[in-house]
Amino acid sequence: MNAPIRVLIHGASGRMGQTLLRLMAEQPSLTLAAAVAPPVAETGLLGQPFHPVAELDAAPDFDVAIDFSLPVAFDGILALCAKRRTAFVSGTTGLASQQRAVLQAASVQIPVLWASNFSLGVAVLEDLVERAARTLSGWDCDIVESHHTRKLDAPSGTALTLGAAAGRGGADPRYASLRAGDIVGEHLVQFAGQGERIELIHRATNRDIFARGALHAAARLAGRDPGAYRLRDLLD
Ligand code: NAD
Repeated sequence: MNAPIRVLIHGASGRMGQTLLRLMAEQPSLTLAAAVAPPVAETGLLGQPFHPVAELDAAPDFDVAIDFSLPVAFDGILALCAKRRTAFVSGTTGLASQQRAVLQAASVQIPVLWASNFSLGVAVLEDLVERAARTLSGWDCDIVESHHTRKLDAPSGTALTLGAAAGRGGADPRYASLRAGDIVGEHLVQFAGQGERIELIHRATNRDIFARGALHAAARLAGRDPGAYRLRDLLD
C-alpha cells in the first residue's frame, strides 16, 4: 500500500480552510500534516491545534500544500513549498501580477496548480464561454459576478478566468460585481446580439465543491513532475 500523502492546509481557520479540514476524510490517500493559521488570538477560534503562521518555516514535513488564504500570505507558503520541493495547490484570489509571475517561476522547480475556481461546473463553463465567444463574433459580452459581503477582491478571480476564456474566443468582456448577503458565488456570462441574447450561469450554493476540487487536485498533484498544471489536467 502507498504511504499517505501528507497535506499542509494554509489558511486553516478561514471558511475554506475549515471546509477543507472537514472534508479531508473523503480522500483516503490524504493525511493532515499541519493546519497553518495566525495565532488563536487573531482568529478568535479556540480548541484547534493550528500550526502558527509565524513558525511556517518549522512546519512538519509535507508532500503538498493547499493554500486558501490571502494575497499577503501567499508568498510565504509558496516559498516554503519551493524550498521543501513539495507540490503547491492554491485557490487564493486577488493575487498581484508579480505574484503570478513568481508562481510561474516556481513551476520550474515544483508542481503547482492555481485555480480561481475549483468547481467542475466552472471548468465546463470556461469551455462553453470560449466556444460561444468564438461563434458569436461582434456580440456584446458582459460578466456579472455576485458574492458574499466579506469577499475582498472584485471582480472575482473566476470572473477574470471566464473573461480570459471569452477573450481567447475574440470577445472583449466587461465586468460587474455585486456584494450581497451570504452568496457563495454566482457568475453570469451574457452574450447580447441584435434581438437575442444568451446567458450562461453558474451558481455555487455550497463551498464544499471548491474544497473537494482542491483536495482531489492535491491528491493527484503530489509527486508529479514540476510544472504549472490546470484543474482539467487532473480531472479523472
Ligand atoms: P477567509 O477570510 O475566511 O480565510 C482566510 C484565511 O487566511 C484565514 O484562515 C486567515 O486566518 C488566513 N490568513 C490571514 N492572514 C494570514 C497570514 N499572514 N498567513 C497565513 N494565513 C493567513 O477567506 P475564505 O473565504 O476561506 O477564502 C480564502 C481565499 O480563497 C480568498 O482569496 C477567496 O477569494 C479564495 N477562494 C477561492 C475559491 C476557489 O475555488 N479558488 C473558492 C472560495 C474562496
